Amino acid sequence: MKRSPTFEALIAELGKLPGIGRKSAERIAYHILKSPKEEAFSLTRAIRAVKEKIVVCSLCFNLAETDPCPICADPSRNQGQILVVEDPKDIAAFERAGVYHGRYHVLQGRLAPLRGVAPENLRIRELIGRVKEGGVKEVIIATNPDVEGDATALFIARMLDPLSVEVTRIGLGVPMGGSLEYTDSITLGKALEGRKNFKPSM
Ligand SMILES: [Zn+2]
Repeated sequence: MKRSPTFEALIAELGKLPGIGRKSAERIAYHILKSPKEEAFSLTRAIRAVKEKIVVCSLCFNLAETDPCPICADPSRNQGQILVVEDPKDIAAFERAGVYHGRYHVLQGRLAPLRGVAPENLRIRELIGRVKEGGVKEVIIATNPDVEGDATALFIARMLDPLSVEVTRIGLGVPMGGSLEYTDSITLGKALEGRKNFKPSM
């Protein structure tokens, strides 16, 4: 039986999602087709809402429903610490763990010369700007522990070196090649606790 173009279009859209191959897209499309109308519409409403309501914080580049985001706007967060991450997903991991009480800075990626990601494509200039504004005592670099994450950390440490700010890198609690996003709370807490001074000469 030939499938309707409407149904094919849904499969095609789902197939564009990361990690969803043709087979999974078909399975999800059938699930949506069979599910109650209200359930399917609640999914489309949720998709619409993230695109309409979520904004990027102009200070830390976290995703939030307000600008500045609730973390930047919270006076009880330690203003002297900035924890640098690649992605908002990493902030979510630290917040879930409840181990960090300073502010954040999202790079929106990591250096990857082979994929054409250069320093100017990341929010490094904005980070330097925040440090130059004063009041920041420590920048904790929490890029992922792999080759690109390490190269990114080193580049940032070099840029911050002339400024009077302590630069640290989270500890070895996170396994090499592991992803912060999937690191459990205890390991993440230990990695933060075990952070070490990070000098570009090292
Ligand atoms: Zn923010």
